[in-house]
Amino acid sequence: RAFLERIAAVDERVNAFITRCDAQALAGAQEADRRLAAGDAAPLTGIPLALKDIFSTEGVLTTCASKILANYIPPYDATAVARLKAQDAVLLGKLNMDEFAMGSSNENSAYGVVRNPWNLETVPGGSSGGSAAAVAARQVPATLGTDTGGSIRQPAAHCGVVGLKPTYGRVSRYGVVAYASSLDQVGPLAANVEDCALLLQAVAGYDPLDSTSVDTPVPDYQAGLRDGVKGLRIGLPREYFIDGLDADVKQALDEAIAVYRGLGAEIVEVSLPHTDYALACYYLIAPAEASSNLARYDGVRYGVRAAAAQNLIDMYTQSRAAGFGAEVKRRIMLGTYALSSGYYDAYYLKAQKVRTLIRQDYFDAFARCDLLLTPVAPTPAFRIGEKTDDPLHMYLSDIFTIPLNLAGTCGLALPCGFSKAGLPIGMQLAGRPFDEATLLRVGHAYE
Ligand code: GLN
Repeated sequence: RAFLERIAAVDERVNAFITRCDAQALAGAQEADRRLAAGDAAPLTGIPLALKDIFSTEGVLTTCASKILANYIPPYDATAVARLKAQDAVLLGKLNMDEFAMGSSNENSAYGVVRNPWNLETVPGGSSGGSAAAVAARQVPATLGTDTGGSIRQPAAHCGVVGLKPTYGRVSRYGVVAYASSLDQVGPLAANVEDCALLLQAVAGYDPLDSTSVDTPVPDYQAGLRDGVKGLRIGLPREYFIDGLDADVKQALDEAIAVYRGLGAEIVEVSLPHTDYALACYYLIAPAEASSNLARYDGVRYGVRAAAAQNLIDMYTQSRAAGFGAEVKRRIMLGTYALSSGYYDAYYLKAQKVRTLIRQDYFDAFARCDLLLTPVAPTPAFRIGEKTDDPLHMYLSDIFTIPLNLAGTCGLALPCGFSKAGLPIGMQLAGRPFDEATLLRVGHAYE
């Protein structure tokens, strides 16, 4: 009830929620109370949670913040959702986001911009902007988001909360609306590292319904959480500490590095030489996969159908023209172009090769250190409207997060200070594949 009241009090200003499930939530809470009273509680029993509106939720509207899915009610739960429900977590609602998870500011939503609770004139980041803002505004203690190029970590940093992008394959993508399938990954956002660990524990692990989920043991994330950082080697990739970095971000990072040194970690410099190519590589691969994934929205199988179509092609065209927003159309066109015959080898195939080099950089770096520490975003949250006319400028927001998705490994964003204007700043810890436990432990030591 306290969280529902908080949502009612602040969401008019924050706009984090697309759908609220108050009645279901209260019924779920009563069920959880019974389970608690029976002494049969799981770690998340009765914990109120909310989900980015990209997760299929049985019987609950799932829009992906797009007009084309404005009426779509899934007949099943995503695996991650089913795993939360199996513990009797209580679902409070579905959260705003950039349409189809394409964006860095939550300004590409058919349901209006989300506002950063720290300063309502600034963006919360994106695409999981609703997920980060809802935690920051204390509307909900924790949420799930998705991260294709930074969409958990960048909004977490801008809203002063903790966000974890697990290793590709760690969490099932079954029932999660696909953006770029070789990059998408599900992960938690919460007020602190331990809560992220609890959520990851609940959703991680092999799922026969997702052929890219990996059948490798899930460790106990609580077990080593308090083991500290003594003896760990933290690598600073030289390509991430560039001259253009915002002065406040640089200072916050320098202070965080000093804290780790004080806690007994060894700081080493490393190099990820192909970093410069990551953004271009991502903006070929992600739109290419998106253009293919979004072909399913044809007005027949899902969502909204144009009313006055003359024939089948006209119906597809009109449904898609009216249903998709401008950024989604831009990505579909870019991706279709990059995949067309004649261009495939020059663009898509080349990008895949560059991706392999970027991945190799990480393996080389992890031979010299246990994890990496970098900025999350080049600046703190920017003003609403500041970058909407300049897509390339907007794409640069993810320059420090995208390489990890291309490499397929895990990254944790956690707060490490404030700008002079009072906006949160985050640092990113990047780990070896499937070594989320080390990130959580190192993040917890800082907290
Ligand atoms: N901002 C990046 C994009 O628009 C990343 C989005 C994401 O991680 N879903 O593609």
